[in-house]
Amino acid sequence: MREASNAEDVRVCPDCDQINWVSGRTSIRCKRCGHLLGGHPLSAQHTLALIIAALILLIPATEMTFVGYRVSGQGQQITLLDSSLTLSAFHEQWLAIVVLLSVVILPALFLLASGVILIWHNRTHYKMGRWLVRAVKYIRVWMMADVFLIGALISFIKLAGYATIDFGFGVIAFAGFVTLLMMVVDRMKRHPLWPADERAVNYRAIVGESARQHQVVGCPVCYAANPAHQTTCWRCNEPLWTVQFRRTSLTFALLLAAALMLIPAQVLPIMETVALGSTQPQTIVGGVLSLWQSGDIPIAIIVFVASLVIPIAKILILATLAILARQDTSKRPKSALWLYRITDWIGRWSMIDIFVVAVLVALVRNGALMSVYPGHAAIAFASTVILTMLAAMSFDTRQFWVRKSTE
Ligand SMILES: [Zn+2]
Ligand SMILES: [Zn+2]
Repeated sequence: MREASNAEDVRVCPDCDQINWVSGRTSIRCKRCGHLLGGHPLSAQHTLALIIAALILLIPATEMTFVGYRVSGQGQQITLLDSSLTLSAFHEQWLAIVVLLSVVILPALFLLASGVILIWHNRTHYKMGRWLVRAVKYIRVWMMADVFLIGALISFIKLAGYATIDFGFGVIAFAGFVTLLMMVVDRMKRHPLWPADERAVNYRAIVGESARQHQVVGCPVCYAANPAHQTTCWRCNEPLWTVQFRRTSLTFALLLAAALMLIPAQVLPIMETVALGSTQPQTIVGGVLSLWQSGDIPIAIIVFVASLVIPIAKILILATLAILARQDTSKRPKSALWLYRITDWIGRWSMIDIFVVAVLVALVRNGALMSVYPGHAAIAFASTVILTMLAAMSFDTRQFWVRKSTE
């Protein structure tokens, strides 16, 4: 057991509640569950350069032609923003907002905030910095530019059978933007974001044990150890959870809502195709079948997994974990956490079909010859994805390590 001398040496794992010692970079990941608690020192200039490059690329990515579409001499070109604006024109404003926020606005805010944090790092006045670090942590979860890129590629493959697709510079700039964004996301998890703090702490004897046993609460944002009576984190001001772990009732409520939204999402049409005057509504399953019949089997499988398997599996797995957490899960906490992390990570990829619809609706606008309109299932399905993401966030994985029988 090692002695902790100042506050930065002690980090409480948000996933398993273990108190870790990180001085001298001996433990960058949680010793018990592997959660990333810090990183090797990185060059802030390097990250800033990536941020500036990403923000510059965002201009051609949104302003220049994203993709063009031609069939029998007719066709049109769209920019990235048209995928959101056209949805709004067809009275799917909520869906348009979800697309615009998750694909453009939140990633741009994330990059700007990250840049400011890195420039201000180690200043004495870091009140604004504290607020930004917390904002960045929450924004990160809702960014879906990478999912949109895959969705756009799938929509191009869907159209390639009966139209000519011309890639614009916008799509190339956007792919570059997504790559840089992902690099910045990874680096921001590893940068030391707090000014040096010499505050002495006396958690010396309890490194390696659960914080809760010793009336200590870990901060979910900066991992600082706080005394149990504290309501906000001394370092980043984040409102703290209590020593008592959160109950699963909120998770169950969100999962129930997600399951209910899944019904209209699967029954109603997700889009309607008007071709030569006749309207063809298409459900999610119908879309998968038509992809399969036209021979795009890998794409059919991707859409099937993303739109049906993942949301249903996510609801069932989270519900099972929440039930198990009420009983004694302490025998296999690592397997339970592993299952939770996979479910949490994979959930956002369900949005693929929503982005496919957003691109098709904007791109395929040839009046009576052929046009695609958004269906009511789209907003229901997006709600399912958002509700399951909220359910995963509301779930307190620290309770896997608590022996219920001894409480
Ligand atoms: Zn841990
Ligand atoms: Zn904190």
